[in-house]
Amino acid sequence: MRVGIFGGTFDPVHLGHMIIAEQVMVELRLDHVMFVPGGIPPHKEASSVRATAEDRYAMVEAAVMGNESFSADRVEVDAGRAMHSVETVGILKERAPEDEWFFVTGADEVSNLLSWKEPDRLLEEVVMVAATRPGYDLSKLDHLEAGLRNFDRIFPVECTRVDISATGIRRRMLQGKSIRYLVPEAVREIIIERRLYERDAKRAEGEQL
Ligand code: ATP
Repeated sequence: MRVGIFGGTFDPVHLGHMIIAEQVMVELRLDHVMFVPGGIPPHKEASSVRATAEDRYAMVEAAVMGNESFSADRVEVDAGRAMHSVETVGILKERAPEDEWFFVTGADEVSNLLSWKEPDRLLEEVVMVAATRPGYDLSKLDHLEAGLRNFDRIFPVECTRVDISATGIRRRMLQGKSIRYLVPEAVREIIIERRLYERDAKRAEGEQL
């Protein structure tokens, strides 16, 4: 099996995520893509209203429902703490060491790879897929070559560029604007029902995940 791990904060999961998961899967002939909602890294803007790990997991679960090639995984949510990708990958690979593992990311994330924990070891464990994202030209990855032994394990994939971000969705929610068609409908229902991202919503502050 060829398996993709798609890590992210998914706060919330949106159609930009679904499109790259689908297109990377087809392009690299993956059998399966696992969405792994994780911690909110410190570099992410702290001021906006955030959803809890359980709410973010519920949204990812709803987003992948009905697609047998996609699944949601609780490994980081259950850990109850922020995890480095190299650690998450180690745990997931133990489940099926004979599989071929890929790590799906947007090119914006990959361009920061040198600040990740043990990037060269991570690249020994997985092929890193850099999906194109509006505003992040693949040439922005060139600087990584000098800093990484395993630079050739980064594989760029040209995907349909969709300028949707979770930040933009949270901002629209705060402004009372529509987010219909930016997220899967089942995700929008959870956001409305649980009143996530509203001005007076319960915040996930202080939570590590
Ligand atoms: P935020 O706006 O809160 O920073 P985000 O929209 O970037 O969030 P994440 O959950 O951080 O969403 O993203 C998970 C992964 O998906 C990252 O690797 C990111 O680069 C990628 N990604 C997110 N949105 C897009 C998009 N529209 N096109 C391509 N890749 C994307």
